[in-house]
Amino acid sequence: MDIYDVVIIGAGPGGLACAIKAKELGLTYVILEKGTSVFQGIIDSYPKGKKVYPTIPKGETGPFPIEDLDPSHEPVEKYVAKINACVEKHKIAIQLGEDLQDIVKEEKDFRVVTGQNYYRASNVILAFGRNIPVDLGVYGDAKTVARRLDNPEDHIGASALVLGGGNSAADIVAALSKVKRTADDDTPVYWAHRREQFKVDKGVARDLGEEILLGGNIRILQGAIPVIGDVDKDGVDRLLIGVRSVDYDDGMKLHQGMSFPMKHVIACIGTQGPAPVFEHLGLRQLSGAEVIGKTGRAGKAGSKFIVLRSGLQTSIEGIYAIGAAISPAYVVIQEDGTLERQKHVDLIFTAVSDGVQAIEEIARRKSKTS
Ligand SMILES: Cc1cc2nc3c(=O)[nH]c(=O)nc-3n(C[C@H](O)[C@H](O)[C@H](O)COP(=O)(O)OP(=O)(O)OC[C@H]3O[C@@H](n4cnc5c(N)ncnc54)[C@H](O)[C@@H]3O)c2cc1C
Repeated sequence: MDIYDVVIIGAGPGGLACAIKAKELGLTYVILEKGTSVFQGIIDSYPKGKKVYPTIPKGETGPFPIEDLDPSHEPVEKYVAKINACVEKHKIAIQLGEDLQDIVKEEKDFRVVTGQNYYRASNVILAFGRNIPVDLGVYGDAKTVARRLDNPEDHIGASALVLGGGNSAADIVAALSKVKRTADDDTPVYWAHRREQFKVDKGVARDLGEEILLGGNIRILQGAIPVIGDVDKDGVDRLLIGVRSVDYDDGMKLHQGMSFPMKHVIACIGTQGPAPVFEHLGLRQLSGAEVIGKTGRAGKAGSKFIVLRSGLQTSIEGIYAIGAAISPAYVVIQEDGTLERQKHVDLIFTAVSDGVQAIEEIARRKSKTS
């Protein structure tokens, strides 16, 4: 198996900048992207038609660190098309559908473990942004549960379960129901939330209400909690959710649950910053109260900041973190050993210039050792 100079996690602006720079400097690399497309993070989070601004952060000067990644005020669709052309032009090596699970330090290099494969590398760059899906928190394995609705038609003819109590879950419930209704499919869409109350905006509620009145088969499950991810005797991955629990006087409880094939479950339970992933990987982070900013003030209680050395290297030598994953701030170790909180604006320019910086550091270290 090849040992790459660098494995890059995430094909956003930061990850692509790393790849282009790595190629230019003669480093071997591959990008692992969990989505089905380059720029998946941007595709998922930008509203349709949004203009993408090439904003340059305060204190920095242009030009854009890699011209081919400059958004130049285009609508997001045009920008993504330009990026796909850039991937072709630079023949960038990307493996799609590869979701980072773990990074294991071996004797001389790292084993980067994804849902399906593993890769070996001397260095790893974490360019996975800030939109890390909240974990379902079930006992057992539930990695195959979808986080968005790619093909509503895949759920025709089977009961589907949508988890989550907010606007995105409601939108998916309405969209799924409409597709089933139009196809004369009377299997239900279950909408489950762990709390009693669902929280959606008026417009979303109106669309959902209209769908129900038009005959959509939508069933609501309040206080429904995902419990176990399991494989049944036919080898089907299933998710069990608890829907009712009755207490008996003698301390016994009666639990009722429903089990759905995971391929018909969509979990819309939101995203969080990368702190839990950094923690899982054993990277040093400090709490807001532990670090002082340039203004002399401590950070917000509860917030966490990753600790970085020069060249955006984390506390584990050979693992780097860049872009939105380290925004809005990180902690730098100064030469005298003191720690200082450093602001880091969440912009495409910043992610691209971080990517260039991290790769230059890797190339510099490689040339020193060879
Ligand atoms: C609505 C909106 C509008 C914005 N408008 C602008 C603008 O006009 N101008 C501007 O400069 N900035 C804008 N930004 C900010 C800009 O989009 C980010 O700064 C930039 O996308 C960060 O790039 P990144 O590569 O660090 O992360 P991302 O773009 O988030 O890319 C991360 C990639 O990693 C992938 N990934 C995540 N987890 C894993 C995993 N476990 N395994 C493998 N892959 C993974 C994701 O699918 C994604 O493709 C906007 C942000 C938002 C949300």
